[in-house]
Amino acid sequence: MSGNELKYINEAFETNWIAPLGPNVDAFEAEVAQYVGASEAVAVSSGTAAIHLALLLLGVGMGDKVFCSSLTFIASANPIIYQGAEPVFIDSEPETWNMSPQALERAFCDAIKNGPLPKAVIVVNLYGQSAKMEELSAICNQYGVPIIEDAAESLGAMYKGKASGTFGKFGVFSFNGNKIITTSGGGMLVSDDRESLQRARFLATQARDAAPHYQHSQIGFNYRLSNILAGIGRAQLEVLDERVAARRAIFQRYKNELSDPGVTFMPELIDTFSNRWLTALTINEKVSGISVTEVLDALSEENIEARPVWKPLHLQPIFKERKYYPHNEQESVSETLFNSGLCLPSGSNMKDEDVETVIHHIKQTAIKRKERASYV
Ligand SMILES: *Cc1c(COP(=O)(O)O)cnc(C)c1O
Repeated sequence: MSGNELKYINEAFETNWIAPLGPNVDAFEAEVAQYVGASEAVAVSSGTAAIHLALLLLGVGMGDKVFCSSLTFIASANPIIYQGAEPVFIDSEPETWNMSPQALERAFCDAIKNGPLPKAVIVVNLYGQSAKMEELSAICNQYGVPIIEDAAESLGAMYKGKASGTFGKFGVFSFNGNKIITTSGGGMLVSDDRESLQRARFLATQARDAAPHYQHSQIGFNYRLSNILAGIGRAQLEVLDERVAARRAIFQRYKNELSDPGVTFMPELIDTFSNRWLTALTINEKVSGISVTEVLDALSEENIEARPVWKPLHLQPIFKERKYYPHNEQESVSETLFNSGLCLPSGSNMKDEDVETVIHHIKQTAIKRKERASYV
């Protein structure tokens, strides 16, 4: 927390706005919309709820197809299943680790041939790095299919001078506890289509018709954000730029000290600005002589939490029957990244010494490994 959260929470208490609506909700929506340069924003209870609403607004229903990035957290795809629709997973490309335009193009070619076209494409901006939005948008526009931009991890990032999350028909942010700013739990749906967002508010408040009695002509959801949590979000938004700067500095420190022919840090595409939500890198075991598992185990022994990169969704047991389009016939980029990638501790509140400690233990692991190798 930054310190100002209690001020906004107190305002909510003093005015007795303890509800999923109120002045903090209105202000948080306006402030996020202004920050990213979207016409409007709707505050909801989670990023997952925002994705679900976006699918509803695009009319995704039973049996429809939705294309979705494979290398992501499962929340990107779960709402497709909530709607009874069918996810088709698209691989990453090496320059952003995000959706591969050429794999997307192949998926569209098949859909044109065998039908039907997808109702939406969910593009994820992994670890704060924007996908190649220009190329992906051009392909989707050609087929007239709207993009839902899952920017849950990329608030504060930019693509060609414009905020990440504002390139699709809808953009989605998350304020879950692990994200770059948090309300403990929460999300935001942004768009330039005010009419659709008005409908999102309606669907997110149980789809109550405009009548004095409680009347309902459709099924809705209870997806609005609490006025208390929106207060936390307002104070968090004030420090977002500092957080991005801190995370980028942490990334740079790791990169300066751990660079090695066998180690590749997640790239930053030219003309983009990543928020470096997590420092992610890959290790080529053959070159570096050390494996991802060894690094993870060594850090874990020191009570330092690090993680592999997201397990691609097409490899998840629950999705193993679903269609998947790799980057090309020979290469599944997301699988390579999963097999060789890891995320280092990257919290904005890490002190220089903390980062140094992580670096020290990784270097020690490499040294020990080399010593062992020389005995054999
Ligand atoms: C966190 C996350 C979500 C879901 O957000 P919640 O607020 O936790 O529901 C969706 N997509 C990605 C890529 C995420 O990292």
